[in-house]
Amino acid sequence: VAVCWDPPRGIYASMPHLRLVHSVAAGVDNLVEDQDLRGLPLCRVVDPQQARGMLQYVLWSTLYFHRRFDQARSSQAKSHWVRPVPAPTEDFRIGVMGLGEIGSQVARGLAEFGYSVSGWKRTQAELDGIDTFAGNAQLPDFLADLQLLVCLLPLTAQTEGLLNRQTFEALPRGASLVHCGRGPQLVEPDLLAALDSGRLNGAVLDVFSVEPLPEHSALWSHPRVVVTPHMATVPVFDVSVRQILDNVSRLEAGDYLTGCVDPTRGY
Ligand code: NAP
Repeated sequence: VAVCWDPPRGIYASMPHLRLVHSVAAGVDNLVEDQDLRGLPLCRVVDPQQARGMLQYVLWSTLYFHRRFDQARSSQAKSHWVRPVPAPTEDFRIGVMGLGEIGSQVARGLAEFGYSVSGWKRTQAELDGIDTFAGNAQLPDFLADLQLLVCLLPLTAQTEGLLNRQTFEALPRGASLVHCGRGPQLVEPDLLAALDSGRLNGAVLDVFSVEPLPEHSALWSHPRVVVTPHMATVPVFDVSVRQILDNVSRLEAGDYLTGCVDPTRGY
């Protein structure tokens, strides 16, 4: 059994007796990129506490933009006393990209807080209290009336580069971005251009195409960007270990495995 996060490319080929590849976290993109899984089962950790941690991170970011802490901080830098007026909570619409184990709990939590919430996923589905959109055809409608866009998508060939100029232009002017999916989904030069032109108001970024974010990146010092070091949520160590051991027992017993990922779909 290979339990990993970022294994060297091609490593599975040197393990002829390998029977299971297991991620230590929710994502598997590092485990499949340029790898030959040769039909081996691929599993990930599914931890409800991890979804709660993500909700906390997204809630902080939502309050930062909705309650205009961003404006207060920029006024403070100039010693200006300016009282911003926030929109009524129900008029602040948040769009969550990806309504999986994590995204669906985040969307529900934001709705319970009184926000208007839209969700976008690959396949059609209903979610109580959330306006749902599906597939690329409905992406422009999903984006059209958001004040805040939250990315909680897995990295696949379809989601790579999705947070780009075209997506930002489909948002209302002055919307903000919270990115907690995976770095390569964001086209960083397009984000900087959208911020500098005023199309986007601000961004809270947790993941980057190169991690750690290089010292020379313009994102570090941009006044309207909050950079966090891939910390939005982490699985609880004991929960991950228990799930992995449980899957090993299941494998030995010939039972079905939990947290299985479809390698052809990529998530
Ligand atoms: P998940 O349960 O596999 O859910 C993935 C969701 O994304 C599903 O709703 C799926 O749609 C949707 N999706 C996938 N491809 C899509 C596409 N091309 N277009 C539209 N929707 C698409 O994943 P999860 O457990 O919620 O985790 C999501 C991601 O969060 C992880 O893969 C990882 O990238 C990120 N994450 C980040 C951190 C952090 O600390 N920053 C921590 C944990 C996870 P369907 O439901 O229609 O299939």
